[in-house]
Formats: sequence, C-alpha cells, structure tokens
Amino acid sequence: MASYEAEPIVLAEDSESADVTADLADVGEGTKESDYAGKDVKGKIVLVSAQPGAVQDLAVGKFGAAGIVSYAQNQKTAWWGEDENLIRWGHLETFSPNKTFAFMVSLQTARRLRERLAQGEEIRLHAVAKAGQHAGNYEVVTAAIRGADRQLQDEEIAFSCHLDHQRPGANDNASGCVTILEVARTLQKLIAEGKLARPARTIRFIWPPEIEGTVTLLNAKPEFAKRIKAVVHMDMVGGGPETKAVFHVTRGPMSLPSFVHDVAWAFAEFVNEESYKFAATGKAEFPLVAPEGGKEPLGAADSAYTLGSDHQVYQDSSFGIPAIYLNDWPDRYIHTNLDTAANIDPTKLKRAAFIGAASGYFLARLNVQNASSGLELSSEARSARLAARMFSRIRGLSKAEEASVNQVFTDYVAGSDESLQAFLGAPRSTSSGTRLNANNAKPGELVFARTATPKGPLEVFGYDYFEEHRRAAGVATPKLLRYEGLWGAGEEYAYEVLNFADGQRNTQKIRDAVSAEYGPVPLELVVEYLLAAEKIGVVEQVK
Ligand SMILES: [Zn+2]
Repeated sequence: MASYEAEPIVLAEDSESADVTADLADVGEGTKESDYAGKDVKGKIVLVSAQPGAVQDLAVGKFGAAGIVSYAQNQKTAWWGEDENLIRWGHLETFSPNKTFAFMVSLQTARRLRERLAQGEEIRLHAVAKAGQHAGNYEVVTAAIRGADRQLQDEEIAFSCHLDHQRPGANDNASGCVTILEVARTLQKLIAEGKLARPARTIRFIWPPEIEGTVTLLNAKPEFAKRIKAVVHMDMVGGGPETKAVFHVTRGPMSLPSFVHDVAWAFAEFVNEESYKFAATGKAEFPLVAPEGGKEPLGAADSAYTLGSDHQVYQDSSFGIPAIYLNDWPDRYIHTNLDTAANIDPTKLKRAAFIGAASGYFLARLNVQNASSGLELSSEARSARLAARMFSRIRGLSKAEEASVNQVFTDYVAGSDESLQAFLGAPRSTSSGTRLNANNAKPGELVFARTATPKGPLEVFGYDYFEEHRRAAGVATPKLLRYEGLWGAGEEYAYEVLNFADGQRNTQKIRDAVSAEYGPVPLELVVEYLLAAEKIGVVEQVK
C-alpha cells in the first residue's frame, strides 16, 4: 500500500520503528474522543483524516492503538480535495510522549479502505518502519562573494532559502535552493569576468533547514546577525500554470519599515512589464523566457507581510534585518507527492533569479555616492502603493480607528524612507512612541522591551517556546493567541506585538500599530499577552 523506497513521502515525520501486523479501524477524523466511541482500537492501526500528530495522543496514548494511517489533505486552496491521488506530507508531534509510526495514503486509497470496512470486511495490515529520533547535527553550508570596499565589506547582503522538507519537494523548496545557487554562480562569473563591478558589500548565500535552522544560525553565530544588513529569501519560486502559482514580492512586517522591499518591487515591476509585453505581442527587449519554460506574463504581486518562512526570523525584532521574501501562493501541490520537477516552470525560476540577483547586487553596491534620485522616486511610489492598501482597509472602520490606521501607515512610510539613511550608516532615530515613566501606569501606558534571550520568533515548526514556558509558569493562554482579526489572527498579532515592544512605544501605541496591520484588537488583549510574556521572561517592563 505504501513504500518509502518508491515514495518517501508515505512515512510521516517523527515515526518510530515498528513491525506490526494489526487490524485497521476507521475512526473518521480521529481528533475527538467521540470518534472512538463504541470502537475498540487497542492494538489496531487507526485510519484517520487528520494529521497523525493531531490524533496520536488520543489514538495511541489514550486508546492504545498500535499505529496510524492518515489521509490528511494538503493546505486549502481553491483546488483542495480535487485530486484524490495526492499523498500529503505527514507529521507526528516531535515532542509527544506517545511515540508511534504513521503512514500517509491518498484520498482514493482511504476511500476504498473505508468502503470495505463499512461493509464489515476485516482488513489486516502489516507495517514495517525503521525510523527514530536521534541526536545529530546539521551542517549549514554558506558561501560568499567578498565585497570590494574596505569600509563596507564586513557588511553582508544574504541570500537565503531552506533545504529541508519532504521528498519530492521541487517547488518547496528545491526551487529556492537552486535559484540562489544559480544567482551565486552567475554573479561570481560576471564579477570574475569583469562584466559586473565587484560590489562594495559582501554577498552571502545560506542553505539552512527552515526557520529552526535560521534561528539556530543567528543565535549560535551572532556575527551573521551583526553583518547581514538585508536578506533576499526565496521559498517556492518555480511554480507556474500547473501549480496555479501567484508570485509574491512580500513586504516586511510593519514593525520593520524598510526601503529594500521597494528595491525588489522596482525589479519585479520591470519583469512584469517586459514579460507582459512579450506575452501580449511576441516582442520585448527582455522577455526573460527559458528555452523549456512558459511564456506567460509573470504577474508578480506587491504583497503585504505573511509569516511562514525564514524571513520571519530575520525580521523578528531580536535581529531586525529586513528580508525581501519571494514566494509563490497558492500551490495546489505543496507538501504532496506531486510537488515534482515536472510541475516547475524554468521561465519562472529565471525571472525569480533575476529579481533576486538584481535586488541583492543593487543593495550590495548601494552607498552614499550612488544613492541616487531613483530611490526618491521609489519612495513616492511606495507612498502611493501603501496609501492604496490603507484606503482599501479603512473602509468600514470607525472614524477614530481610521485616524489611527492613517497615522500608523504615515509613520511606516516615513520609517521606510529613514531606513535608507540607516542602511547608509546614519543613526536611526527612536520610534515615535511616547515614553512614559509613570509609577502607576494605566494599562495603555505600560512600556515593554524584549529581553536579551530568547532571540527570534517564539513559535516555529514543531515547537512553541511561549506555550512550553507558559504552561510551566502556570500562566493561562492569552486570548490574543486565539483572536481573529480582519486581516490577521493569533500568531501574527503575537509576532508583531513582540516586535513593536521596543522599550519606547507604550501598549496603546502597540495596540494601534497591530490594529492597523491586522485589524482592530482590544487593548486589554495586547496588555494580557505582554504581561504573560513578561512572566516567562520574554519581555521586561521599562519603567
Ligand atoms: Zn517552504
């Protein structure tokens, strides 16, 4: 039914070794006690529609199942559930005490099994897994093109991607890994041949495992965090008509205004125009079409910040490094057996490589002398684009909320302009928040700042620092983590609340800032979250 040798995706991550022959029991979703009512699953293998990690504590821990077969589906898009041959990447909980194994099957396989079970047939499965958790190490490869300027060569522009994930993983994320490799090869060649001037700053390339790898790298090697001034991060940059991709040039979080996103967007707009001209007329000076690739226009979108990859580590306020994030969404094959090279568009890779390489090289060269009027233009264009985004958001908000959103966007635009001066070496002015030194501060007047450790986002794949320490300290789950805003929810609010807690802004200002970014949120939720974060030592009050 499933063979790791034929398709490695069939074995869920964090599976343990087993050699079990047991009956199969259908428990539906498998996440609620009622799914098991009237069924004896002890010693059996359970068939579930949820991810293995969501059922293991109940199925294995509580009811004594011997293992799991899951037909969990991949992330929701308009094409979700249409292809019943997809096999999804499965996960058990890394830190669950209820160790077990899980195999992933397609919807089609699961439907057949369920029909046979429903007709009263007994199905006996033989499962063999050789797997387990063990201590190990992961060597993160990096490479650099040394900068030419004695003053600036210790500053770096870093290209990033992520090298882990299921197999196959062509778009997520072999595409990003090979594209930054090709950027490295191309820039190195052009610089060596004298066709491009060696840039002032050093250009670095990093191939880490996703998020945890970058958190570890920046903590273990603080010199990386110190030297890197901007990042070009590529995660899923090869999708096309087959995967239903839209290509995003994603801005940073509003807590970290930066001009680097406008640099990336300027190059993306150029490719949008040239590739459309070519698609529409068959003629363009720079069509950027690969011999075996598609001819569709790129149609890149200038998108608001989203979480989900290593860019969120760099842009966490512990590091404060702006990161251009180039990424596809949707992708109907993400995290499935069909994320294969056959569905990748070479033209798309070429265009992503160009936008990334041009942005990184531009930033590596940028200095006080060549920071020309072209950038002032991009500042005006930025204001116009952000104003459009703001106006689309404030419809339907109260007058007071509207004024507050307007102020936050105005500050953000000013901050982006200022970030250029900071990049060129001018000291950054402090944030616009009012610092109050009241002894009996009201909730909205409290001021918090991140502590020296832990550095980086608190919630990463498979591990939640906040949750673990909150439980240990007996602190209730803050309501902010379950809050659904107009344009964002729980984890996004929490990420930005921490980022905005800079020792300057008071909680009212932080509340206004995250309300402009993700939708109005009550002040008391922000205060409750920060007080909980204080109890576990992530922030401290500034008095
Ligand atoms: Zn990815």
